[in-house]
Amino acid sequence: MLKTIAAFDRIGEENAFAVLARANALAAQGRDIINLGIGQPDFRTPDFIVEAAVKALREGHHGYTPATGIPPLREAVAEDLHKRFNVEVSPDSVMIMPGGKPTMFVSILMFGEPGAEIMYPDPGFPIYRSMIEFTGATPVPVPIREENGFAFSAEETLSLITPKTRLIILNSPANPTGGVTPKSEVDKLVAGLAKWPDVAIMSDEIYDHMVYDGETHVCLLSYPEIRDRLILLNGWSKTYAMTGWRLGYAVFPGKLYDYARKLAVNFHSCVNASAQYAGLAALKGPQDEVWKMVAEFDKRRKVVVEGLNKLPGVSCATPKGAFYAFPNIKATGWKAKALATALLDDAGVAIIGGPDFGILGEGYVRLSYANSTENILKALDRMGEFLSKRKAA
Ligand code: PLP
Repeated sequence: MLKTIAAFDRIGEENAFAVLARANALAAQGRDIINLGIGQPDFRTPDFIVEAAVKALREGHHGYTPATGIPPLREAVAEDLHKRFNVEVSPDSVMIMPGGKPTMFVSILMFGEPGAEIMYPDPGFPIYRSMIEFTGATPVPVPIREENGFAFSAEETLSLITPKTRLIILNSPANPTGGVTPKSEVDKLVAGLAKWPDVAIMSDEIYDHMVYDGETHVCLLSYPEIRDRLILLNGWSKTYAMTGWRLGYAVFPGKLYDYARKLAVNFHSCVNASAQYAGLAALKGPQDEVWKMVAEFDKRRKVVVEGLNKLPGVSCATPKGAFYAFPNIKATGWKAKALATALLDDAGVAIIGGPDFGILGEGYVRLSYANSTENILKALDRMGEFLSKRKAA
């Protein structure tokens, strides 16, 4: 019997990948499946970004790069953050990562151990809790409530901090709810954190371009009073339709930067060189395609919300960001995961049950509207037919 560590009994997963595999397997059997499960843009990476990667390879950029990323890319990230949020960021605090997830991984590793508490949004991205559990730290869910527009509440967040709290994870615009936390609430949270100077914050802003209805994204870097304990998670996956490239970045304060660098050297050495050149082209090039994608998501958002609200037993608040809708399905009588499974098996529509995002996700399902309007409408029709015919299991 191999003697491995107990942490593997606690680590979780992301069920969206299991649903994707099941949806693909059904499609391979000839079933007509509409996938509103996985959270990835259905657009192609813009051509000029792909060309930049090809050119980089042709020019011989196929060796190791510095573990923290190529200097021009770190500079471009700092410039981009300055341009968009008017914040000063030194390229020396920017680290290029192999996607957004690795920033969660290393940040939670830096703070998590038995006895420590780490706060995370529930419902929220499942990897937060999974990684917290893996380290042996105590996961402390911060409730994200429908009645609060799926924004986090500063008061509730602050009330959950204890002397054992080491890290608070924030996410706005949010997965799975599409919630966007208003500036007034972030202001309140930051003000309250003055009492807890030893608590670090990791702000996951991977959906920062995707805010609608005239909202503007609030970047946590714009609060100088927490800059010495703020980790920013961001990347190219969602904004530039680059999920498979595995390219992200983090801003780490003080000694955390060197910890992250050491973890990178131990774990992946550096990020794929040509992907870094692609990322550079993405930031330096025209942003029209990004805004076109965002405008298209906005249109689909309206279609999906309108359609969901017509389904029996379903009500859906209008999400203000990202590309997810998180309808309340309590009045259908279905448990969320049972509904998601039955919809995939019987109606060929892949969605994710709310409990895959936390305990408070029961009574909700997540639909990703990163799919064509035609498919979204078809999926809504199928869901309507299913709900009117099938009784809750
Ligand atoms: N953070 C959130 C909130 C996400 O929804 C995702 C992906 O779905 C990520 C981070 C991970 O992004 P990446 O694919 O770049 O690792």
